[in-house]
This record gives sequence, C-alpha cells and structure tokens, in this order.
Amino acid sequence: MRKIVIAGNWKMYKTQAEAMEFLQGFKSELDTTPDDREIILCVPFTDLDLLSKTLHGSRIQIGAQNVHWETSGAYTGEVAAPMLLEAGVRYVIIGHSERRQYFGETDETVNLRIKAAQKAGLTPILCVGETKQQRDAGEIESHIFSQLAKGLVDVDQTSLVIAYEPIWAIGTGDTCASTEANRVIGLIRSKLTHSNVPIQYGGSVKPDNIDEIMAQPEIDGALVGGASLEATSFARIVNFQ
Ligand code: 13P
Repeated sequence: MRKIVIAGNWKMYKTQAEAMEFLQGFKSELDTTPDDREIILCVPFTDLDLLSKTLHGSRIQIGAQNVHWETSGAYTGEVAAPMLLEAGVRYVIIGHSERRQYFGETDETVNLRIKAAQKAGLTPILCVGETKQQRDAGEIESHIFSQLAKGLVDVDQTSLVIAYEPIWAIGTGDTCASTEANRVIGLIRSKLTHSNVPIQYGGSVKPDNIDEIMAQPEIDGALVGGASLEATSFARIVNFQ
C-alpha cells in the first residue's frame, strides 16, 4: 500500500508569528481528517524549531526545503541534516525547480543532498518536472528520466517521496490536467525499483482541483505552494474526498 502524502511548501513565506496564526486556524480543521494521509508543512528554516515544538504529538509533520550533503563544515548559508533532525524535522524537499533555477542546484548536488538526508534519518521529497519548452519539444520523458537516473544514484527508495512538478504549472494557476499528471507519474513509477514510493503532483493545486487530482490512480498526494499559506484553503486540500 502506498502512503498518501499531502505537503505544504511555504517557500520563503511566514514569520514565526504568521506561522502560529496559521496553525490556530489549521489545527482545528483536522478533527475529521481521515487517518490514511500524512500531513507535512515544509517551512522556512527559522520556523522549524518553533513549529516542531508546537506540533509535538500532533499528526502534522515538519519538513525543511533544503539540506546540505555534509554533516558540518565551512559552507556559509547551508544547513546540515543532523541539525534539521535535531530541530524536529522529518521530511526535506530536495531539488525544487526554484532551487535548480535560482541557486544552481544540479542533479548531482540533488543526489548528494538526498543521500545525506537519508543517512540522518530524514525522508527526502525529490522534485522533478519539465519546462514548457521541454514539454512543447516532446522532451518530458527524456528530461524527467534523466533527473531520476542522476538524482537517485545509490538512493534507498524505501525512504523516499517524489513530487512531479511541471515547472509551467507552478504558481501560474495553469494546472496540469489530472489525467496528464497521472500519465507522467505512472511513467516515473515505471523507472523506480521500489513499488511503494509515494509520488505527489505539484503545480497550482487548489481546493477546487484537489479532489479530481487525488481521484487519479497513480497520484499519491500533492505538494502545495500558494494554497498552503492560508489555513482554510490548505485544510480543504488535506481533507480532499
Ligand atoms: P503552487 O502550488 O503555488 O503552484 O507551487 C507549487 C510548488 O512549487 C510546490 O512546491
């Protein structure tokens, strides 16, 4: 049985005060959430410690948005996996397209970060996805298969989540058709050696399209940006039917 994993990616949003305000509204909406789903909030580094302490014993897990591959060292601005673990983190997003685009993340550094996260006991959420240009050129498969092949070298697939995030659908309101997301996610699954890896869809997931997305047989969850910033909207997504 594959796990259902719904994760919010707050990106560079929310101070601690704003995060606490979010939680007040969000937690009260989870009373009737079915037990079959994992709920994760991937928050800025500065929110990790406070949120994991506040949410201790609750069903909400905490995730980070990046991790370095060394356990310590002279790497100004980076954070190591054992530091995240100590702060109560259980998941970490790795290789998000914004990190690949703006911060020079490569498939090779993605691979190093995934292995370091797993070694510390964190579950990586590996992001893959094509640009509009690659899609129009018929290069979806070759691009994503290459990201997977390089990113997953020597990776333990028993402790892994993958997020399929077509770049053209991120923050645009231009959701990938659910049947098309289902098709690509099926292709991703065909390249994995472990059959129970949860594969999420990400890109303009909203309260009004989550039910249709989650009705697709290959889609095991969602990685949600903008719509995870507002408690009522993320609660509706987590409570998909
Ligand atoms: P949006 O949900 O805002 O499109 O962002 C998706 C995303 O990048 C999640 O990681």
